[in-house]
Parts: sequence; structure tokens; C-alpha cells
Amino acid sequence: MKTHVKPHHCPMAGCSAAFSEKKDLRRHKATKHRIGAEIFYCKVVGCEWQLKGFNRRDTLRRHTRKVHHMVESEPTPQLYDDMLPLEENFL
Ligand SMILES: [Zn+2]
Ligand SMILES: [Zn+2]
Repeated sequence: MKTHVKPHHCPMAGCSAAFSEKKDLRRHKATKHRIGAEIFYCKVVGCEWQLKGFNRRDTLRRHTRKVHHMVESEPTPQLYDDMLPLEENFL
């Protein structure tokens, strides 16, 4: 009897990975194929990590602090940008 059914197959061509849980497939796609994974890029001009990017926010933060001796600034929340035109209307 088959107990370990893996219905979630990786859709990437040439990849035969399959998982029993959807979240495992998602993690696989994020780590192996970088799909759905957030990439955090270094903001310092000329830094090699400006193009490569980190897959973890922590790692970028640590890199920025260690390599550039800077504290990475918090990104402006998207919501704030959306709210700007409204504020202009009030003026
Ligand atoms: Zn895969
Ligand atoms: Zn950097």
C-alpha cells in the first residue's frame, strides 16, 4: 500500500521533485528556483550584492551593517505611497 503520496509536483522543466505538502513545494520553488521568494538587494551603488541580492532580509541587514557600516533603512510601506495623492487633495 502506498502511504507516501506526493501530489505536488514541481512545475519547472527538468525538475522531478514532488512533495506531499504544498508548503514544501513552495519552499522548494523558492530555494531551488527562486520563485515566489522575496529578494532583498543591497542599495549601495557599486556593491556586488546590488545585483545579486539576498534571499533573506536578515542577511541583507547584516551585510549592510558589516560591509558598509550602515544601518539599512526600513523600506517605505507601499500603503504610504498610495496615500500620498489623497493628502495632496486635502491641500
Ligand atoms: Zn523543482
Ligand atoms: Zn552591499
